[in-house]
Amino acid sequence: MIALLVALLYATCALAGELHRPVIKYPDSRRLGLDLVAALPSRTKKVTVWSGARANKIPKGCADVVRAHKLNTKDITVVDVEYNDSDIVYALCHHPKAKMSLDKLIDWYGKAPGFLRTNARHVMAIPGTGASGIASNDNVAYFSDIGMQGFIHELGHELDTWCAFPGKKKAWDKCRDTPIWREAFNEDWAAVTEYANANHGENFAELTVHALYQWHVQGGIDRLGGTINGQPAKSSYEHEVGRIMDFCWKELGGTTHVRKEDGYKEYPVVDK
Ligand SMILES: [Zn+2]
Repeated sequence: MIALLVALLYATCALAGELHRPVIKYPDSRRLGLDLVAALPSRTKKVTVWSGARANKIPKGCADVVRAHKLNTKDITVVDVEYNDSDIVYALCHHPKAKMSLDKLIDWYGKAPGFLRTNARHVMAIPGTGASGIASNDNVAYFSDIGMQGFIHELGHELDTWCAFPGKKKAWDKCRDTPIWREAFNEDWAAVTEYANANHGENFAELTVHALYQWHVQGGIDRLGGTINGQPAKSSYEHEVGRIMDFCWKELGGTTHVRKEDGYKEYPVVDK
């Protein structure tokens, strides 16, 4: 019941927006995602569908999410994917009625730089309503044929959990709760989207997309042409973007190859 009360309160706060910052105006809100798709290279090396002895098996992380959404695990295609920037074999899950195609899921997950990708254990595309995606327990599920902004946003939640921000007491404490992040938050004063105002978690995830853009797209976030009160918006959120770049540079693409010992997450497999 306490959990329920907390959940209800959280939902209410999220709807109202906890952070109350003015929202930056962008001349073309699609540009953030479209430029990232163009700038990030495709890295898919090899795709292997689970078959033979594994045809009736599924990673538990996928099965948990699939069953929670009242879907049948027997409908799920599981693939092992290797990318050219990592020694890790990633297991991805796809439902035939998912709005996002398996090809896109594979390609875009590979566009996420190796360490950002490896923060998640499994990504999957399944049918669902309400949110366009969720991140929970290191697994990310996409429900819609999402744009790159939303695709990276969900990985941003995993970055919040796993990036080595100074001041974390445990490795999986949230970056957003560290004093150094709150200091940057207080130095900045605008939100990149209305959704970023929902709470500190959504704000961090939204800003992850901008940090990735700053890293990979020529011209950086200036190129997006955002304004606040008629002035260029960059200075209203650059401290937060800067801290993500300072401390999560590996995940943003500063290291080019992920070795197994850098982040392979073991995962149990269950019957479908
Ligand atoms: Zn989110």
